[in-house]
Amino acid sequence: MMKESIYGLTFEQLSAWLLERGIKPFHAAQVWEQLYRKRVTSFTEMSGVKEECVKLLSERFSFQTMQQHVKQESEDGTVKFLFKLQDGNLIETVLMKHKYGLSVCVTTQVGCNIGCSFCASGLLKKSRDLSSGEIVEQIMNVQLHLDERNKDERVSHIVVMGIGEPFDNFENMIDFINVVIDPKGLAIGSRRITVSTSGLAKKIREFADTGLNVNLALSLHAPNNELRTRIMKINKAIPLEPLMEAVDYYITTTNRRITIEYILLRDVNDHQKEAEELADLFQDKKQKVYVNLIPYNPVDEHGQYQRSEQASVLAFYDTLKKRGINCKIRQEHGTDIDAACGQLRSKQIKKEKAQ
Ligand code: SAH
Ligand code: SF4
Repeated sequence: MMKESIYGLTFEQLSAWLLERGIKPFHAAQVWEQLYRKRVTSFTEMSGVKEECVKLLSERFSFQTMQQHVKQESEDGTVKFLFKLQDGNLIETVLMKHKYGLSVCVTTQVGCNIGCSFCASGLLKKSRDLSSGEIVEQIMNVQLHLDERNKDERVSHIVVMGIGEPFDNFENMIDFINVVIDPKGLAIGSRRITVSTSGLAKKIREFADTGLNVNLALSLHAPNNELRTRIMKINKAIPLEPLMEAVDYYITTTNRRITIEYILLRDVNDHQKEAEELADLFQDKKQKVYVNLIPYNPVDEHGQYQRSEQASVLAFYDTLKKRGINCKIRQEHGTDIDAACGQLRSKQIKKEKAQ
């Protein structure tokens, strides 16, 4: 029988689960301490926890619901992991080194149904959602990789930007956030977590209503409906009008800034015209947006797209700045190791099929 990941329960869920089995809540605190502070990797290593409690947990849960399948290390310190899930599916997790700390990019679904025309992850349709435990376990595996190096390094930031659309797996993604921010456990500050969406407007509102102080990034990539629908077919179902209303709702409800992601695609969305249109779109909320200009990572299957020329990138940036829009050109990581999200996974799947 396949067991669920022990990391999937929030502290409240773990306490309730134990209480239902007649175990007092303070035992949940002991278990939590072992999981996230001591970071034991098996039930037998758990110390100071009531035997009956360990037995109950071990009957139902597992520490390892995935195995490391491939690990690639880049010269700049980026590490890409491919994990094999219990059902054989492969997922991708990336560790990145920044000046401000170590961030991990997690996957939320096996494949993605949004199918954006430039993305490697959307090449394979979603076969299932990841459980909250499978998302937390990615962080734990990376943290254990760091622990093994004995440098006292901690995962300090999380970006939910791996394979999948996190808002299409909403509840599990929220449970995942509640586990990793718990001050008694990993205690990763909510302001150090960013969730990225392709623009599911209703879920953006729901996310604002959760009251979690987590950053939101919106993958916009085009400033008008015609162009956005051409590169992201989701725009047909959810065009810019309802999307921008959801953005307004998010800003007024949370009073937080929103990050706008904009991949620069050569001769597609990188002209002065689009820079001006983008500035127009956010003219009334300049103080509340931050535009991330992203160099495109070419994907073999999407040969119609190339990375913008450096001159166009700089001109685009200048136009936004002149119009008073906060923006930056995103620094790249691990370009020597299949950097585009989902690329390592899709290459590995092709390779294994060919064998
Ligand atoms: N599904 C969510 C989160 C995962 S994708 C979303 O779309 O926002 C994370 C980010 O990577 C998105 O902004 C996405 O547009 C971007 N991305 C996808 N493929 C890319 C590529 N080949 N090069 C650069 N960025 C890419
Ligand atoms: Fe899915 Fe995001 Fe890739 Fe679009 S960019 S296909 S939403 S993972």
